[in-house]
Amino acid sequence: MLKPGSTIGILGGGQLGRMLALAAARLGLHCHIYSPEKDSGAFEVVRASTCAPYEDEAALAKFASSVDVITYEFENVPAKTASFLAKRKPVFPDPHVLELTQDRLIEKNFIDGLKIAVAPYAAVHSASQLAAGLDKVGRPAVLKTTTMGYDGKGQVKIMPGDDANAAWRKLKNAPCILEGFVKFEREVSVIAARSADGHVECFEVTENEHRDHILKISTVPAKVSPALATEAKRIATRIAKAFDYVGVFAVEMFVVKTGKKQAVLVNEIAPRVHNSGHWTIDGATVSQFEQHIRAVAGWPLAKPIRLGRKVEMTNLIGAEVNETQAWLTVPGASVHLYGKTDARPGRKMGHVTRVYTK
Ligand code: AMP
Repeated sequence: MLKPGSTIGILGGGQLGRMLALAAARLGLHCHIYSPEKDSGAFEVVRASTCAPYEDEAALAKFASSVDVITYEFENVPAKTASFLAKRKPVFPDPHVLELTQDRLIEKNFIDGLKIAVAPYAAVHSASQLAAGLDKVGRPAVLKTTTMGYDGKGQVKIMPGDDANAAWRKLKNAPCILEGFVKFEREVSVIAARSADGHVECFEVTENEHRDHILKISTVPAKVSPALATEAKRIATRIAKAFDYVGVFAVEMFVVKTGKKQAVLVNEIAPRVHNSGHWTIDGATVSQFEQHIRAVAGWPLAKPIRLGRKVEMTNLIGAEVNETQAWLTVPGASVHLYGKTDARPGRKMGHVTRVYTK
């Protein structure tokens, strides 16, 4: 168990690292951010930072010697970097989780192996596998690169009549996973935390609306039955145990309706704090960021309690950051800006949480 005054090393310097560091500071813990990007927003809220490539072993060794434990805010940290660091300091979650979640196919096989429902899928490494995969999952289907996809990047939809090989060429014929297109009723996520001694706490099921493949609004409570909410949290708990996870992670799920009953299919796992959990900073008695810091510090987790009848989180994407002024005076709203200067289209610039009490 880390004592106050200890230092947590964080790989990655974006807004997630920034909000983790702010939560750590409140608990009297210091953070050291390691990021290859010069203008990392997390640098400005910590007392120690390193700007170096993930392959720079001298910088990594120096970073490791300056911290007590290491975690990350970014799941595409190279596996080699994580294992280099793990030889020097405890890394949470364990680097084996990165190997399981960096590749969509390995991740799907893992979830499927736990007998947790997922959309029908097939591996695509050749044109014949693509044809066979389409026979299996049907059309429409979604073809996704197995690695490095996010916010809808690295995926194409294949409609009836589309040339599947042309779709694959758009993804540069990279190794892919083909998924049946799920006609979901809604999308939800469960943010869960697991402590070093194996205790799991889930936040309430969150409902997520995307725009142009990017999360726009998260709302709690989600419009799901109590039975489905229990099932969604049970799935997250099983995944946490199967990974022997320490820290916070998110499970993104599709809610489908079969007859009158709702059921869930797991879409993907993010082995880190997640955008759909940002509402917890202002909308719950403990945030996902504090929960993660507690877990990696070896502290007990808090039992999260929602504040308000309903909580809504709205992302400020690209030029929407100009709407900040108007949000500042909205009752129940809390504004968060990430310190980014260049409001490029699609870039997450900040978010607003609105707590409704009536
Ligand atoms: P992902 O990168 O897998 O999280 O996908 C991004 C978004 O694309 C999801 O949040 C869904 O809105 C949509 N999507 C991904 N996979 C599927 C699927 N198999 N069926 C329907 N929609 C999907």
